[in-house]
Amino acid sequence: MSEWQKTLRDESIATLEKLAEKFGAENIDVEALRPAFDNFQMRITPAALDQIKEVGDPMWQQYIPTVAELDVVDGMIDSLDEDGDSPVPNITHRYPDRALFLVSPVCASYCRFCTRRRKVGDPEKISLKEYESAFQYLAEHTEIRDVILSGGDPMMLSDSRLEYIFQRLRAIPHIEIIRLGSRITSHLPERITPEFCEMVQKYHPIFMNTHFNHPDELTPAAVAALDRLSKAGISLGCQTVLLRGVNDDPKVMMKLMHELLKARVRPYYIYMADQVAGGEHFRTTVQKGLEIIQALRGWTSGLAVPQFVIDAPGGGGKVPLLPEYVEEINDDEVIFRNFQGQRFTYKQPKPYDGSGTPDIVPIEIAAKKQRTAAKKASRPRRRKASGE
Ligand code: SF4
Repeated sequence: MSEWQKTLRDESIATLEKLAEKFGAENIDVEALRPAFDNFQMRITPAALDQIKEVGDPMWQQYIPTVAELDVVDGMIDSLDEDGDSPVPNITHRYPDRALFLVSPVCASYCRFCTRRRKVGDPEKISLKEYESAFQYLAEHTEIRDVILSGGDPMMLSDSRLEYIFQRLRAIPHIEIIRLGSRITSHLPERITPEFCEMVQKYHPIFMNTHFNHPDELTPAAVAALDRLSKAGISLGCQTVLLRGVNDDPKVMMKLMHELLKARVRPYYIYMADQVAGGEHFRTTVQKGLEIIQALRGWTSGLAVPQFVIDAPGGGGKVPLLPEYVEEINDDEVIFRNFQGQRFTYKQPKPYDGSGTPDIVPIEIAAKKQRTAAKKASRPRRRKASGE
C-alpha cells in the first residue's frame, strides 16, 4: 500500500462519531446528521480538515454534513441527466467530439454539494468491472478525440490502474487528448508522487482540470503538488463551483483566481451550482455569478477570468453566461459599455464589393485625418477672454 493510501485510510474522518470527537458534540449532532450521512457518505482527509479554521467557515460548509441536505425543493437526483446520455456503463457521450469516462467510484474527501452524489462513493454504481464496454465504445466512435476521466476522482486509482487506462486510450488512434477531472491536489496533495509524475509523461497530452473553490484551499502542500504536475508537463485548469457561503463574493473569487494563476493553473470555468437534490442550500442566484464575472472582467488580467456557465438541467450541456455589455446592435453600429460602464460605439463595416466604393476613405487619407485630429486635441486650449 502506498503512503498516500495509508494516510487516506488511517488519518481521514469517515464517521459522525469521529467528527464529533474532533469538533465537539456541541457542533456535531450525530443523531440529527445521521440521515444526511446515510444519504451521501462522508470522508474528510487530513488536508481538507486542516483547511477548516472555524465552525461554519467556507471549508466547513463544503465537507461537514448538514440537515439542510434533506430539504429538497427543486433539486433533482441526476440533474444533468448524465445517465440519459450514457450509451454503455461508465460513459456519458453528450458533446460531438468528447466523452466522459467514469473510472473511479470514490473520492478522497466528499463534497456536500456534489452533482454526482447519487453515484459517488458507491462501487456498485460506478463499477470498475465495466471498463471493457467503455473502451469498445470509445474505439468504435471515431468522432471522439477528447476523453475526460472522472468519477469519483480518477486520481484515487493506483498508478498501475491509471497506466492501464492511459495505455488503452493511447491505443485508440482518434483519441488525441486525455483529461483528468480531479480534486486530489486540494484533498490529498501527497497523491501526486514522483512515480506518478514519471509515469504520466509517457501518455501526453494529458490535461488536468483541478477543482478549487476558495483561495484558502491553495495551501503550500497543494501548490507544491500543482508544481509537480506542471513539471511533469500536465496542463492545468480549474473548475470552480459558485457556492453560497463559500465563494459568492467577488473579492474571494478574485483572490482565488490570482492564487490559481500563481500556481500556474488557468481558471477554466465557474459553474452555477447544479440543481441537485441535497445541494440546494449551496445555490445562489444567477445574478450573483454575473456580478462576479463583471467584477473580474477588465478589473484583472483576462487570464484570471474563467467562463461562467450553467450546466443546463436535464442535459442541455454547458451554456456560457455574460453580463450585458451590448446595449444596441444594428447594421450600422454597435453600442456597448466597457468594464467601467462607459459607452462606446463601434461602426459596422460598410458593404464592399472589392471595386472601391466612393464612401470608403483610402487608408492614407484616414490616417492623415486621424493625425490632424490628434494634433488638434493635444494643442493647449486658449483661455477665453473672461479668464475662465
Ligand atoms: S471531488 Fe468531485 S466528484 Fe468527488 S465529491 Fe467532490 S465534487 Fe463530487
